Amino acid sequence: MSVPAKPQRRGLMLVLSSPSGAGKSTIARHLMEDKDIVLSVSVTTRGRRPSEIDGVHYHFIDKKKFERMRDQGDLLEWAEVHGNCYGTPREPVELALSGGKDVLFDIDWQGADQVASAMPEDLVRIFVLPPTMRELAARLERRAEDTAEVIAKRLANARAEIEHWRDYDYVIINKDLQTSLEKARAILYAERMRRARDTYLESFVAGLLAET
Ligand code: 5GP
Repeated sequence: MSVPAKPQRRGLMLVLSSPSGAGKSTIARHLMEDKDIVLSVSVTTRGRRPSEIDGVHYHFIDKKKFERMRDQGDLLEWAEVHGNCYGTPREPVELALSGGKDVLFDIDWQGADQVASAMPEDLVRIFVLPPTMRELAARLERRAEDTAEVIAKRLANARAEIEHWRDYDYVIINKDLQTSLEKARAILYAERMRRARDTYLESFVAGLLAET
């Protein structure tokens, strides 16, 4: 009796949230080395930072286009963060999930909440915490891509963001990147193996029991 061909599984949605500067984007970048996960590229009305590439880090759009997408229902979720608008284009996410790919989201707690209401069974939420507030401030300053005023605003918002840590399935304290990355990968692998998500198991067990 041969093992049945593996049907495509429906992908899961992995949300990574944290205050700016806690290291979430670095963790996200490394998680993307996995061939079965794609990054959701958000639209934003924020100005592009020098190191950012349009279409890779974000789709940079103006407020008018953002409002049009939002009003047409083209965004899976959206939020205003630090005075700018951010949103997740719906179509690429739905295509990836139905094609059996996982989707990684670098979005804030407001976005995570909206996705949780819309698609609760496909969602896994991870919150990344900085080891100390002092370290968070140092990371924002080291990045040196924002003005002092923007950094101050982000630090003030960090406290409000951290208040939402209980909404998440997992919390990673990012003391050391390598360890945090191992933890994030462990979460991704374990969540992929959840019985309810693994559509392959039905046919595998049926085949197993039919063996003579
Ligand atoms: P930044 O301006 O530093 O790139 O992002 C600021 C915050 O906006 C981060 O916490 C990031 O996770 C969040 N963010 C980025 N894209 C989206 C999105 O599409 N939706 C939501 N809700 N938040 C987003």
